[in-house]
Amino acid sequence: MSDSEWSVELARELYGLNNYMRQEFIDVDDEGFLVVKVNGYRARLLDLMKKFGLSNAYVRVLPAIRWAMDQVVRAYLETSEEAQYRGRLIPVYPLKVDANPVVVETIWRHGRRYNWGFEVGTLQELKSIEKYLSEETGVLVVDGFKTSEELEALKKHAERGWRVILTIESEREAELAGRFLDSIEVGVRLKPMTRTGSKWSFTMGFASKFGMTLNHLMMMVKDFPFLKKALTTIHVHGGSQITDIKAVARLAHEAVSILEDLRELGFENLNVIDLGGGLAYPYLDLRDGSHESPNYTVRDYFKAVLSAFRKSKRHPDLVFENGRIITSAHRIVVAKVLETREYGPEEYEESLDLDFIERAKDMKELERSLVEFREVLAKMEGKEEWGIRAKHIIETTRARMINSVVSKVMRMVLDNPLELSEVLKYPTLFKIVTSPSKRFIVSYSLFADIPDKTIVNQYFQVVPLTRLNEKPHVLASLSDLTCDSMGEYREYYSYVSRVYDKRQAFTGMDSRLMAVPGVKVKLGGIPLHLPSSGEDYYIAFLDTGAYQDMLAMKHNLIGEPPEIIIDESSEGELRVECLKCESKGYTDMKTAGQV
Ligand SMILES: *Cc1c(COP(=O)(O)O)cnc(C)c1O
Repeated sequence: MSDSEWSVELARELYGLNNYMRQEFIDVDDEGFLVVKVNGYRARLLDLMKKFGLSNAYVRVLPAIRWAMDQVVRAYLETSEEAQYRGRLIPVYPLKVDANPVVVETIWRHGRRYNWGFEVGTLQELKSIEKYLSEETGVLVVDGFKTSEELEALKKHAERGWRVILTIESEREAELAGRFLDSIEVGVRLKPMTRTGSKWSFTMGFASKFGMTLNHLMMMVKDFPFLKKALTTIHVHGGSQITDIKAVARLAHEAVSILEDLRELGFENLNVIDLGGGLAYPYLDLRDGSHESPNYTVRDYFKAVLSAFRKSKRHPDLVFENGRIITSAHRIVVAKVLETREYGPEEYEESLDLDFIERAKDMKELERSLVEFREVLAKMEGKEEWGIRAKHIIETTRARMINSVVSKVMRMVLDNPLELSEVLKYPTLFKIVTSPSKRFIVSYSLFADIPDKTIVNQYFQVVPLTRLNEKPHVLASLSDLTCDSMGEYREYYSYVSRVYDKRQAFTGMDSRLMAVPGVKVKLGGIPLHLPSSGEDYYIAFLDTGAYQDMLAMKHNLIGEPPEIIIDESSEGELRVECLKCESKGYTDMKTAGQV
């Protein structure tokens, strides 16, 4: 392949590596290897996998967590200064996002300089950070269902100097809080009316599982008059991953208006707004406001929030309770391709007449006749009494149809002044030319490693560890090692701003369309290289550092793989350590059953 057909720069775009939250740490080198960068030191991920002899691993880049924390604090300081905002930032880390001890330790140690505290939602989470609670002091926000056992524990920490903000949601909790007023602060969680359009926006509105309505609060105050003085904080949470900045702004406006009104009604000590989580992580950084690609940055978030909060006469402090933005980038799932198979049928014998494909004058005609032909084919495939010969013919027909359409479309685009985007007008054609031709069997478990793919159809960026200086060969689906049909990953959002040669938009071997310049397109498979025999070809799933550790499932007894921890030494050098490395990964039979 000539150089003009591909470039590392194009790979950066196609694989979504120009990303404001992780480009500091993850990049491609000139020879096409995916590398982790820390303080100017680089390590090829392939070298790390080979060094420890692993077929799969979680690679944790701990400096990415610290960097995200620094970005948050810096963005707040800059935007609050620009807006002449006087309220302070109170950052806390919500443990439900990732309570892995390595992660919590990183956040705690680095967070000391910013007084970064914790948010806990259960007694168990509280117990998991006991060692930090007795070490120093800070801020502790307590959500979730509260018990007197939990409050006794909180009282102890409060008396040692922790600032405990207990957010209540019911009469029972108000009564409970009333008994501990000399040590803890009280907040109230309200149901926001703003709709944020997040996948989790069912956590808002009156039917939300969480919080109280304003009416309910006003009635409760009659029974618990101490609340008028005791309430310091109002808490609203708009659901995780709010991808539209306008929704963030609306939520901030709603919160600050409620704060102002309540102050007028005599809640004179209200001086904190906890906006919950919601700051969206750019799984894809195209800023289009889709579920995977928020239309704003951390800086834009604070701008929107503070411009709403400024309307308040006494600027409230802001509790920053976002965790997804802090931990997402740090965890990379790396998995080896163990085998490759055909995705669909192959050509074997003669087929039905497919001349209509060659004869089609333009895409419009091709689309129309394809729609008709596919119906005929589907009817034939639906019959039960086919013998082996008829099956051969049907399979060959389907295979040849796909191959002919793919090559015809490629020729139509390359030989004519047609724009690549022309294909977007024809859904059947588009689906065929972006369909996978290969199935890669990969050493991972979607249920254990990226469970949110099944739970909320979360998008994760997929990148090969090698050959990023070569044009991808095929579109492939990634089957995992479980025996579950849902254990397959094949959706891919592709975006490149431009190509120099239309040939660059097609894969090298199966001639699939993998990009349309200037347009975000959804492919049915992932652009990858066909590993040669004996080649160590690995794939990385990026941004798996939020929620995935905590939600991991043990389907087919596939448990956790080894972990490669990347950190910096006190001299600022790259430091690499392998945890559970003797297990070698999922394909080692010795450990496959140990969970
Ligand atoms: C889940 C949750 C968070 C964390 O939200 P992210 O946007 O996922 O970081 C914060 N606060 C509360 C109350 C939550 O339930």
